[in-house]
Amino acid sequence: MSETGHAPVADRAGGAAGRRRIRELPDALVSQIAAGEVIDRPAAVVRELVDNALDAGATQVTVRLLAGGVRSIVVEDDGCGVPLEELPLALKRHATSKIASLADLESVMTMGFRGEALAAIASVAQVTISSRTADAAHAWRLDSGGEITPAARGVGTTVEVQELFFSTPARRKFLKTDATELSHGLEAVRRHALARPDVAFTVWHEGRLLAQWRAGAAAQRRAEVLGAEFTAASRVLTVQRGPLLIEGRVGQPEAARSRADQQYLFVNGRFVRDRLLAHAVRSAYEDQLHGSRQPAYALFLSIAPELVDVNVHPTKIEVRFRDGRAVHQALRSAVEDTLAPTRANEAPPAEAPALPAAPAAGPSLPPVSPAPWQRALGLAEPAPVWAAPHGAGGLPAWQALLQPAEEGSPAAAVAVAPPAGEAAAWPLGRAVAQIGGVYILAENAQGLVIVDMHAAHERIVYEKLKRSAAAGAAIPAQPLLVPVSFAATAAEIAVVESEQAALQELGLDMGLLGASTLVLRSAPALLPLADAADLAELARRVLADLAQAERAGSVVQRARDEVLGTLACHAAVRANRRLTLPEMDALLREMEATERADTCNHGRPTWRQLSMKELDGLFLRGR
Ligand code: ADP
Ligand code: MG
Repeated sequence: MSETGHAPVADRAGGAAGRRRIRELPDALVSQIAAGEVIDRPAAVVRELVDNALDAGATQVTVRLLAGGVRSIVVEDDGCGVPLEELPLALKRHATSKIASLADLESVMTMGFRGEALAAIASVAQVTISSRTADAAHAWRLDSGGEITPAARGVGTTVEVQELFFSTPARRKFLKTDATELSHGLEAVRRHALARPDVAFTVWHEGRLLAQWRAGAAAQRRAEVLGAEFTAASRVLTVQRGPLLIEGRVGQPEAARSRADQQYLFVNGRFVRDRLLAHAVRSAYEDQLHGSRQPAYALFLSIAPELVDVNVHPTKIEVRFRDGRAVHQALRSAVEDTLAPTRANEAPPAEAPALPAAPAAGPSLPPVSPAPWQRALGLAEPAPVWAAPHGAGGLPAWQALLQPAEEGSPAAAVAVAPPAGEAAAWPLGRAVAQIGGVYILAENAQGLVIVDMHAAHERIVYEKLKRSAAAGAAIPAQPLLVPVSFAATAAEIAVVESEQAALQELGLDMGLLGASTLVLRSAPALLPLADAADLAELARRVLADLAQAERAGSVVQRARDEVLGTLACHAAVRANRRLTLPEMDALLREMEATERADTCNHGRPTWRQLSMKELDGLFLRGR
């Protein structure tokens, strides 16, 4: 025993001799751990209970809170109720009436389906359910001790949640003031109220009426919830794009705010906070809104449930679209068209390309005009990964840079010397040759410029990636026609499992294919056509970067930059790639336009100047 009275570390944490036995955690503890993901504050309880009321077909939902919801949350509905024999099941983990099979999950339209919420809440609070179905003579009440007694109420359900986190003081400590918790709780109901104008909602706090929304038309409800100011400064939107129905209101650019507090996005009636969608909307304001201003909007997307996965986040606040790129494109153009000033002599804005009507066997995307991120990255016409043209003929010089090297292919374009005056003004000069497949030689006013083309290109791509990432966008992913599978270590698999969100953000859709095999289903869209081995190698390096970041406990931003660096390195032209003179010139011009272009991401110089004087010195030539 040490002086402090603690057991030696080896005994506690398991040195070679003192390892603890593997044992299954008691059910109650499992529930408490699981609850942490879903129930973090009273507002989460409100969200889950109102979800359940809506799933039960309620037309009237009443929420009553005490002490911001910390002391008590009561949600009352007039839905279908829970039959007596199912009451005890309602509080059990993984007990749900909403899905019965994996196939059901594909087409789930209810807010709940995991059968987790009530069990989670019951593990961290005292829960009582009173419920009555239409065919029951009276209601039944299940109390927190598991006892069932007759009760009086009309058809529907009342769930009471008392003393949240009473048994988990560590959690309770994280709660903010009652006023703050209350505002989050009210916000949770506002979101439901926006999504379901056909349902009446009432919120009480400490016996005082806080908010009341009567059932009615969507426009009316939105105006009530979002306020007259927003309504006056916004435009209505209703657009069908392929299988996606987009409707709601978008605020005029002049009505933008300093905070992102009026941005509501719903997918199939569920409030989501989705980077892809938020970026699509934000980019529609691109030319009209200063970077620091936040647009206000409430947008409601409806899409066939099999085209969206709602089961990717514990609280279901994130979704994943089967075809995220097409959704991004559709949403952006719909908002853009709505914001565009309409002139009398102007033709209506062209329809955005339709989304694929049904999920096809492989990834199939319509031909799309350059997406914002493509423009941001200077890739006006991206070459789809599955259909990249070989050879550089006819492609713009910059894009040709991203094409794969072709053995012995003739120079794709004829070098056209720029007008002498213009070339003289280029700081990095005019390309004259490439040597060793590595260096570009250029001539400028001072003399000779030598450029390490891979290092320079890497910096350019990296800065572009960073800019697009800073704009809040996930790095756009391109589905692979043929997913790439590769053998993986346990450590790599662990990273894939724990860092799904980060990987998605980086445009990498990775999953487990077997006990020791990973599969890559999408890659960042800006990567040049790469073969399977290349992609697997990229995936491994990104996983290594993420694992590193995890160990170092470094902040997300740094990890991101690390990974962006890896992506940039991969996207950059390889050594031994023969470039044409216009391609080289394009690279030099990009360098001139890029911040920090003087060094590569690893801090090495990207170019050197040899002045005429230095050249003269090499040849002992006096001037
Ligand atoms: P889920 O919503 O994912 O099914 P929950 O734990 O939230 O899981 O609820 C478990 C089950 O309890 C539901 O599937 C439903 O059958 C029943 N239930 C819960 N709340 C209500 C309610 N307000 N009205 C009717 N049934 C309810
Ligand atoms: Mg539920």
